[in-house]
Amino acid sequence: MVDVGSRYDLRVAKSPDAPETGTFEGQESQFGWIHSYETGSTVDGPGVRLIVFMSGCLLRCQFCHNPDTWHLKDGTKIELGHAVRRLGDFAPMLRAMGGGLTISGGEPLVQTGFTCALLAAAKHMGLHTAIETSGFLGSRLSDDHLANLDLVILDIKSGDPDLYRLLTSAELEPTLRFARRLNSIGKPVWVRFVLVPGLTDIPENVETVARFVAPMANVEWVEVLPFHQLGSFKWRALGLDYKLENTRPPTDAQVQAALKIFRDAGCRAR
Ligand code: SF4
Repeated sequence: MVDVGSRYDLRVAKSPDAPETGTFEGQESQFGWIHSYETGSTVDGPGVRLIVFMSGCLLRCQFCHNPDTWHLKDGTKIELGHAVRRLGDFAPMLRAMGGGLTISGGEPLVQTGFTCALLAAAKHMGLHTAIETSGFLGSRLSDDHLANLDLVILDIKSGDPDLYRLLTSAELEPTLRFARRLNSIGKPVWVRFVLVPGLTDIPENVETVARFVAPMANVEWVEVLPFHQLGSFKWRALGLDYKLENTRPPTDAQVQAALKIFRDAGCRAR
């Protein structure tokens, strides 16, 4: 969910060189609602990434900086074949730069059919594939779906179920269950943890996440993301009640303290 690089429109005309897409078009995934997409990210998976931001999310995180992605139909309806053709346009560049496709949101698993069809197409093109997800809908992914995923960027927003519910309006357990499943099959994972002063930064909360993650050999990185206010204008524009209006980003010392908790528990953290 990091905005880097250039924005392109998936609706623009087809490329004459685009690959055939018929085999990727299933009944449930003929089209998807896409918020936007970006090229050039170097932080959402290895190499240079194309990031597709899907619309739709079931969570309502207090610190969300993309509340304009919450509702499915706030996005643009894109045919799968068209999205695959546009992906094909970028594929040579992405391959040359050791990167691939990352599907984020919103929540990419709200539209599991479309997301998984696009991932399958990306694998077919020889691209590295990743999703960024809260894990809340992880049970929607079959083993076959997971086979087309090289990396899961998993947002664990709190280790405490009550705090998780307060922060997101959802339950923590589905995310933990999905994390255990990914660990059981050795699927590479980057855990993301948003550090919000006065909310998620309570040491006991950070320690709970750290203790959960530390034994998992499939977790390559824990990334501590400092809360920021860059999305606050969207809450105001949408007329939403933004509870973190007066919350400041964490200081470097606060970020370092959280990183130390993860590292002391045995996690590779950055
Ligand atoms: S899961 Fe992501 S998109 Fe959904 S509300 Fe939370 S931060 Fe926003």
